[in-house]
Amino acid sequence: MRQLIRECHVSTIIHFAGSVIVPESVRNPMEYYFNNTINSCNLITTALDCGIERFIFSSTAAVYGNVDSVPVAEETPLHPVSPYGRSKVMTELMLADAHAAYGLSYAVLRYFNVAGADPGMRTGQCSPAATHLIKVAVQAALGRRPALEIFGTDYPTFDGSCVRDYIHVSDLVQAHVAALDYLKAGGSPTTFNCGYGRGFSVFEVVDAVKRASGVDFQVNFGSRRPGDPSYIVASVKRISELLAWSPKLNDLHTIVAHALEWEKVLHKHQ
Ligand code: UDP
Repeated sequence: MRQLIRECHVSTIIHFAGSVIVPESVRNPMEYYFNNTINSCNLITTALDCGIERFIFSSTAAVYGNVDSVPVAEETPLHPVSPYGRSKVMTELMLADAHAAYGLSYAVLRYFNVAGADPGMRTGQCSPAATHLIKVAVQAALGRRPALEIFGTDYPTFDGSCVRDYIHVSDLVQAHVAALDYLKAGGSPTTFNCGYGRGFSVFEVVDAVKRASGVDFQVNFGSRRPGDPSYIVASVKRISELLAWSPKLNDLHTIVAHALEWEKVLHKHQ
């Protein structure tokens, strides 16, 4: 890393790498603290040693845990309910300390539920054993899984299933570009929620995938999945005010359609 940073004259690091599956973090927390926290500590240390000016970090809505009210603003106290969320909080804290001690400029982007695929179908999610809802649902619609299981139908939400704020991956990419411009223009270190401020339940997502695909795939009702908060939706006030960012693909049907199309592209190559 040090050699690469020097040879390529890197001045900003955008740190995307990490482990991202909530239930996996519950089963194997130390792996998450190692990969997300310790490796981030090493990267921040390297950044400081090499005189990196700016650092943009991929964090998560999982840092909030169960919140008392939605939409959730960035200054809300953090009570993560999974090792995944806790592993990311620790990195956020390290960045704040690195700024205070050494003046490192940074932005934390708290991703809500990222989904969809590049509209030009150049890239999309490829993980072989996917666990994320929209990916699993489009796989079920295309017959790559026998069924989809809904984890919990007894949550205190309007239909009993969990509610999430799904953001299209291309809008999320643009948030990184906007955060970089913000830091380059001298913006002070800040944390930004990256979502749309609108929540959809698991049932609503399943319905959207059924409609987009025209396939009435099998849905089973299962028990709650450990580490899942019931209802989380972003406040987008800060990102809208401070960054030159306005979402272009903030529509569940577009997100689902792109995820479905991408899954078909993947099929062709397998
Ligand atoms: N979910 C589900 N069945 C699945 C995958 C996910 O019911 O096969 C639910 C999950 O319990 C959560 C929501 O869908 O309430 C979003 O989960 P996902 O894993 O996509 O993202 P997370 O919110 O955990 O980051």
